[in-house]
Amino acid sequence: MKKWQCSVCKYIHTGNTPPAKCPVCGVSSDKFVLLEAENGAEGEAPPKKAEKKSGHPAPKPSPIARQSLGKPLEPAPTPEPAPSNLYEKIIQLMVKHHAHPVSVHIPNGILPAAVMLFILAWAFDTDLFVKAGFINLIFVILALPFVLFSGVIEWKKKYNQAVTTIFKIKIVAAALTATACLISISWYLINPDVLSSPKAWVFILINIVMLASAGIAGHIGGKLVFKD
Ligand SMILES: [Zn+2]
Repeated sequence: MKKWQCSVCKYIHTGNTPPAKCPVCGVSSDKFVLLEAENGAEGEAPPKKAEKKSGHPAPKPSPIARQSLGKPLEPAPTPEPAPSNLYEKIIQLMVKHHAHPVSVHIPNGILPAAVMLFILAWAFDTDLFVKAGFINLIFVILALPFVLFSGVIEWKKKYNQAVTTIFKIKIVAAALTATACLISISWYLINPDVLSSPKAWVFILINIVMLASAGIAGHIGGKLVFKD
C-alpha cells in the first residue's frame, strides 16, 4: 500500500492512488504527493507525473512539489524564513501555537450559554437572564476579532489560502456568527426589553443562526485539526 499526503491539510491517505478529493479539505487529487511505497521509495511523485522520455533523467521532484496537468511545476514551499519584524514573529508564533483552534473555544464555549439564557429570558420574561445573556455576548464579541484574525492567518500560512468548499463554508459561517453577534448586541443596546417585545422571536432566531454558524465553523475546524 502507498501513502499519499494532501499538501494542503496534511491528511494522509492509504491506497494505490490518491483519493479523487481530499476528504478533509476538499482539494483535488493532484494536490496529493506520494509519501512512501512498499519498496520504500521516498518522495516519489504521483504516477501521472511521468518523466519525459528525453534521455536525460528529469530532476527528481521534491516530496512537496505539486503539479497539475498542463501547469508548470510550482516551487516547493521553502522552510519558513526567520521573521523579519515583530509582526511576522507574532504571526509565526500564532500559527506554531495553534492560536486559532485554541482561541476559538472562547466564543464557542460562551455562545451556547448566551443563547440558552436569551431563550430562558424569553420563555419566563426574566430580565436577569437577558442581562446575563448580554454580558456573555460581550465576551464573545471581544474574543471574535482575535479568533477571526488568527483564522485568516492560519488559512494563509497553513492551507495556502485554498478555496475549497470547506474553507468557503468556514468563511461564511464565521461572517454569519460575527454579524449575528453584532446585531444582537446592538439590538439589546437600543432596546433592552427586546425579549418582552413582539419581535422577540426574531432576536432569538438571529441568536440561533449565530449558534448554528459557530457550530458549523467549529465542526469543520475540528475535522481539519483532527483529520477524521
Ligand atoms: Zn486536504
